[in-house]
Amino acid sequence: MYWLESECTKGHWWLQLLPNNEADVTDNCTCGETIIIERKLKPGRLAMISIIPAEREIDSLTGKLGNTKDFYFCIEDMRTQNKVISHQSFNIDEILNLTKRFTGLTFDQAVKTWGLRKLGKLETQRS
Ligand SMILES: [Zn+2]
Repeated sequence: MYWLESECTKGHWWLQLLPNNEADVTDNCTCGETIIIERKLKPGRLAMISIIPAEREIDSLTGKLGNTKDFYFCIEDMRTQNKVISHQSFNIDEILNLTKRFTGLTFDQAVKTWGLRKLGKLETQRS
């Protein structure tokens, strides 16, 4: 993924985080003016952290949901989009503690820390 910084002739400025496979956005500004500056910026090395709700339908007939208070923990390398998702789920307090512990680590540091904390088997996914 990459950051795309844009500015129109009227000076409106905005920033988007886009997946690598997204075609460059070349639309006009919402004000209708032409975009005059577009800069593609590589993300830094810090791991992106996601909290994935474990909530899922456990009965397709009634639509009943289960695992409503559980979450999976995910870290992702914003440059390569390699990511790992915990095999075990956590409650909100545990997931917030993990988030604090992993914030500010590079993806490689986070993977090492993950191993030391035994969060579950690492499962690398390339998207
Ligand atoms: Zn504009």
